[in-house]
Amino acid sequence: MQCDSTASVPKMKNNDDSEKQPATREDLEREVFDLRQLLEISKSLNSTLEYHDLIDAILHICVGQIQVLRTGIFTRKEIGCDDLVLHRNYIGFDVDHTIEYRIGADEPLYRFMSEHPHCFTPQELERTVGLPHSVARLEPELLVPVQAKGELHGVLVLAERIEGTPFTAKEQDYLLAVAMFAGIAISNSVLFERSHTDMMTRLKLRHSLESSITEIRNQEHRHPFSLVLLDIDHFKTVNDTYGHNVGDQVLKTVAEAIRNSVRQNDVAARYGGEEFAVLLPESDEATAWEIAERIRKSVAGQITQYDGTRISVTISAGIAEFDAERDITISDFVKRADTALYRSKQLGRNRTTAAE
Ligand code: GH3
Ligand code: MG
Ligand code: MG
Repeated sequence: MQCDSTASVPKMKNNDDSEKQPATREDLEREVFDLRQLLEISKSLNSTLEYHDLIDAILHICVGQIQVLRTGIFTRKEIGCDDLVLHRNYIGFDVDHTIEYRIGADEPLYRFMSEHPHCFTPQELERTVGLPHSVARLEPELLVPVQAKGELHGVLVLAERIEGTPFTAKEQDYLLAVAMFAGIAISNSVLFERSHTDMMTRLKLRHSLESSITEIRNQEHRHPFSLVLLDIDHFKTVNDTYGHNVGDQVLKTVAEAIRNSVRQNDVAARYGGEEFAVLLPESDEATAWEIAERIRKSVAGQITQYDGTRISVTISAGIAEFDAERDITISDFVKRADTALYRSKQLGRNRTTAAE
């Protein structure tokens, strides 16, 4: 790999024994080439806000540019969680699925990585702060903190060079530059995710769901798609009987049941106070019915435990398949699902109704 340090790149200790010579034209050309590559990397990393695509891009840059056979990144599992876990997009590692690969926020390594933007060999870390057992199992050759604005967003782990050669100081500088861009991109992606997520239930917010509906509606070759609106039955009674905190706990239980009942591409949202919505891409009314019923039955089977109290709630659903002739605006579409939901309430609750 051709690379060299730049003024903007955080410096790491220099392992090069070579004496400083005046830069030749060839050196300068190589430097320009490397800077261009870094610029491309920065552009590509900043072109997506989708977290998992971003992680994929970072790891493929490591494989392609740094020539490693195995690489992975420890990142936050979800918003609000401080511990770092090995992201599932790792490349080449022979992972034992019975153990969790984790760097706890309370471990010395976490703090150390937050405070030292350098590349480290596992031996250096063993000597100073120690390596968590699960990290050591990956047999890393280099660990790099991924930071942005003073916050640790991840730890990049690299192992086994294709050529078997050690990482040079220049390559480590290059890696730090990549990690710096990765940190900014991850930080942007996390901010984006936060502005679209309801922090209590960890479901999407209403505006996020509505943009997803608009996106699907505007697709050139779109398949049928549907919307499910859900509302907890007699939720006011739960609050009145057990208090608002218990009500919040019930909301979280219901959200969890919804999350576990939908597919990866479905968009589950907290639509309002105790109302939820699920956008179902590539689903006609019959599929939407099945999914709404799956959610309804799952919610009915859940029990929220709070201070020894066991509470169970039911949920009513309304479904609508998008109809371009009737659903001129997104509100028209939502309104049809809402009318169907209202019908479920009128018919006695704990049931699903399809829009007319
Ligand atoms: P229905 O079966 O007709 O839907 O009856 P309901 O009692 O669920 O409906 P209603 O609209 O009368 O009451 C909704 C309640 O949801 C009232 C409101 O205080 C409660 N709620 C809304 N958001 C939250 C929240 O974030 N936490 C808690 N604990 N309660 C909430
Ligand atoms: Mg309601
Ligand atoms: Mg309700």
